[in-house]
Amino acid sequence: MLRIADTFVVERPRTVAAALALLDAHGDKARLVAGGTDILVNIKHGLHAPEVLVDLKAIDGLRVVDLEGDVFELGALVAIHDLARHPGVQAALPSLARAAGLIAGPQLRRMGTLGGNICLDTRCVYINQTHFWRDALGYCIKKDGTVCHVTKVGKKCVAAASNDTAPVLWTLGASVRLASPRGVRELALEDFYVNDGEKNTVLAPDEILTHVRVPRPAPTRRMAYQKLRVRDSIDYPMLNLALAFDLDGGVVSNLDVVVSAVAARPRRVKRLPEGPLSAALIDEAAALAHKQVRPLTNINGDVAWRREMVPVLLRRAFAEALGEEAAA
Ligand SMILES: Cc1cc2nc3c(=O)[nH]c(=O)nc-3n(C[C@H](O)[C@H](O)[C@H](O)COP(=O)(O)OP(=O)(O)OC[C@H]3O[C@@H](n4cnc5c(N)ncnc54)[C@H](O)[C@@H]3O)c2cc1C
Repeated sequence: MLRIADTFVVERPRTVAAALALLDAHGDKARLVAGGTDILVNIKHGLHAPEVLVDLKAIDGLRVVDLEGDVFELGALVAIHDLARHPGVQAALPSLARAAGLIAGPQLRRMGTLGGNICLDTRCVYINQTHFWRDALGYCIKKDGTVCHVTKVGKKCVAAASNDTAPVLWTLGASVRLASPRGVRELALEDFYVNDGEKNTVLAPDEILTHVRVPRPAPTRRMAYQKLRVRDSIDYPMLNLALAFDLDGGVVSNLDVVVSAVAARPRRVKRLPEGPLSAALIDEAAALAHKQVRPLTNINGDVAWRREMVPVLLRRAFAEALGEEAAA
């Protein structure tokens, strides 16, 4: 049974209200598209068969990068390329600019958007395949099947959050603004994601992510982003790690480490140390991250090696945040 849509209609609304009206009118037959760099691949693979694609790119006002106030505002349609290259973002939110610059390859970064990245579907070696491949395997829990080929016994999908901006935005305390026919709600990004690979966000089918809001970091805040992938020129993460901490008078506080590409939701490392910046403090944080993060076979790359790379990425992130050359 071939599940790829034969045709779909593309609607191009000019306002958020018009886009919401289209979602309302077409219900579960409609899907949103921004840059299309993820959803079009998934449609080709038969993961979705929308009758209507609501293309957001003609909507004005969602490309804003406002770094003026105490809370920065980034529009959902800001291109990943523009986020990576924006001098203000590079200065104020260097880990976000770096993460954006490490997404996919140049063409995809120009087409792809921040909103699309935050709403990126989860990924797994058993789902991001052609329909033919998945049919031969007997499908899986995420689409059309009943088995999880990763856990073998589990009834829950463990496809991995694979978006590079998500862990960074967690460490920056970001929130997302969601518009729907019921009005606008704002959620901490942490509350936007749930630990379910089938659908890892609380975004309702009739909601649109319009803006990302990031509190202006204190001058003492240091931040970094590290990523592991097969080809540095284009690939999704096999593992990624965002780091942020305050450094004041040589003392580290509010240390935050978020790791992703391991489960359906990014994972925050718990019980991290505080105190004078020292090799011992970094060692302790690295050991805790290694203990708490256990990759699965949902993503390419040997799981034991990916786990061993967790403390390595954490050390590199410290070096990056402290401006040391070893970071790259
Ligand atoms: C070869 C390749 C490599 C890639 N590598 C990476 C990588 O390294 N890291 C990474 O993070 N991504 C990667 N991607 C995925 C993708 O290019 C990016 O995540 C991109 O930012 C997605 O944005 P988009 O606007 O194209 O999303 P789209 O494909 O348009 O949409 C993605 C999803 O988000 C939904 N959506 C889009 N905008 C909104 C909105 N405003 N409100 C609500 N829902 C919305 C869509 O309905 C869809 O479900 C890669 C893709 C390819 C093809």
